[in-house]
Amino acid sequence: MSALPSTSGKDHFAEAACYDVVVVGAGFAGMYMLHRLRGLGLKVRVYEQGGDVGGTWYWNRYPGARCDVESMQYSYSFSEELQREWDWSERYAPQAEILNYARHVAERFDLRKDIQLNTSVDCAGFDESAGEWQATTSDGKTVGAKFVVLATGCLSNARLPDIRGLSDFAGKVYHTGHWPHEAVDFTGQRVAVVGTGSSAIQSIPVIARQARHLYVFQRTPNFSIPAHNAALTAEEREAFRRIYPEVRRFAREEARNGIYAELPDRGALDDGDNARRARYEQRWARGGLTFMLAYNNLILDQAANDTAADFVRAKIAEIVKDPQTAKLLQPDNHPIGSKRICVDTDYYATFNRSNVTLVDIRTNGIEEILPNALRAGGKDYEIDALVLATGFDAMTGSVARIDIRGRGGRTLKGKWAEGPKTYLGLMSAGFPNLFIVTGPGSPSVLSNMIVSIEQHVDWIADCMVWMGQRGLDLVEATKGAEEGWVAHVNEVAHMTLYPQANSWYMGANIPGKPRIFMPYIGGVGVYRRICDDVAAKGYDGFAMTAAEPLREAARS
Ligand SMILES: Cc1cc2nc3c(=O)[nH]c(=O)nc-3n(C[C@H](O)[C@H](O)[C@H](O)COP(=O)(O)OP(=O)(O)OC[C@H]3O[C@@H](n4cnc5c(N)ncnc54)[C@H](O)[C@@H]3O)c2cc1C
Repeated sequence: MSALPSTSGKDHFAEAACYDVVVVGAGFAGMYMLHRLRGLGLKVRVYEQGGDVGGTWYWNRYPGARCDVESMQYSYSFSEELQREWDWSERYAPQAEILNYARHVAERFDLRKDIQLNTSVDCAGFDESAGEWQATTSDGKTVGAKFVVLATGCLSNARLPDIRGLSDFAGKVYHTGHWPHEAVDFTGQRVAVVGTGSSAIQSIPVIARQARHLYVFQRTPNFSIPAHNAALTAEEREAFRRIYPEVRRFAREEARNGIYAELPDRGALDDGDNARRARYEQRWARGGLTFMLAYNNLILDQAANDTAADFVRAKIAEIVKDPQTAKLLQPDNHPIGSKRICVDTDYYATFNRSNVTLVDIRTNGIEEILPNALRAGGKDYEIDALVLATGFDAMTGSVARIDIRGRGGRTLKGKWAEGPKTYLGLMSAGFPNLFIVTGPGSPSVLSNMIVSIEQHVDWIADCMVWMGQRGLDLVEATKGAEEGWVAHVNEVAHMTLYPQANSWYMGANIPGKPRIFMPYIGGVGVYRRICDDVAAKGYDGFAMTAAEPLREAARS
């Protein structure tokens, strides 16, 4: 029995509205959204442009791709049974295993029957007279829906760099975010990797083991911490499962980044040199993203941050034998952690191999791509294959690609031209009944994203139930609440060192994109409490109305 009055069967919606909810995207967000809404008895259709579920893990098949939040935590928590029955094989599972997990979830919860693959949502327009959305898909169909949920992903719009001659390159070109499904073998080839972000840092050591020669074109070096990845034993998994209730509670309620970890009790400058070094050594030996939790002020205080950055720079100098290469690999233009920290396996050591060359393109970039070479610094590097690890139009790219029109036909892309504007990252004023999962203005990419996804999905589903129980049909962020939230997100960001980096959090990797710090830094626990409080106050900052007057007007 539905907790909500379904609109899909009503006469006055019969022509247009086929679904209660259209969900765009079938990654972890879209899949869980479908599961929750189906549990409410709603008629839901999910459209996914890819050939299978899994989102990020369907597209990013590059060599070495794996999660950087430990798998026991980078997994759904909504089902106790799922949590108990799925065995992760490694501390950081490889892409194929995470994709299998997504497929398993789709089967286990019988999601596939409501997911239409190989179909993108190209346009979505809000019909003000009917109070519903019309979505047009790449198969030429238009469907109606009371709600649209954008589960389009923060990192799903792969960015191709604008380099002269790219289309003339005679060899194979790969983007890490759009990797082919068949195995790619670089054996005997001269390969160029452009970019040194997370995907590059994961793939470079693997490609280097295959390629005849690997050229790495680096504009900005990034800080990377060793993963110390290893197989998980059955005993380790069971020990972890025993503490799962506390792990999940902590990740949701207390952690800033949605990860269960020991929280630091003091700042970096509270310790003397030896104690601080010992603590960083301990964190380095443990590996992974929680390196930044060595002290509680690393992302707040420049002097504190410098101590951690210096430690990692010293490690790079220790590992990389050639001093000039080591120097180039040492990040020096942003605080550690102000760009997403990378987690690697043998990244720095890979530059000790005789078949790997680091090419510095900080000053002049890549001048040109020739049919058989990359030209940089006036020199031609002959290559057979080109790997673009150039990242994504993050957080807004996939949303902006859809022609979304709200009240008065205003486009969301146009509204966001100066930077994304949302209330809580969940809705944008002027776009009623359009929800975004992990949108800009929410912790999203600064967190263990499955924790953030589950929180958003639950909040959205609860909001729909609340509306249904009160006979309300439309929900919309108010302009005032949105303005207040955008200002708050900005204010919190500027209390930290994050805005100092030219990062994709700021849109800095996309020429012409406004420099706005997009995710919410307040932390997932704090953010959850804010969202819960908003709901407890009757969805404070959201206007809710019944659509009947609209329908009446439409009928007459
Ligand atoms: C290489 C890589 C590693 C990562 N590792 C981690 C990690 O360790 N920990 C972590 O927390 N996060 C990580 N992330 C972030 C990751 O994106 C999220 O953890 C999570 O997978 C996002 O799920 P999602 O469903 O929100 O988005 P996605 O997985 O991106 O799924 C969105 C889906 O929407 C589809 N879509 C978009 N637009 C349309 C449209 N118009 N019509 C139809 N379909 C559409 C896309 O094809 C995509 O399949 C990583 C990201 C990358 C790229």
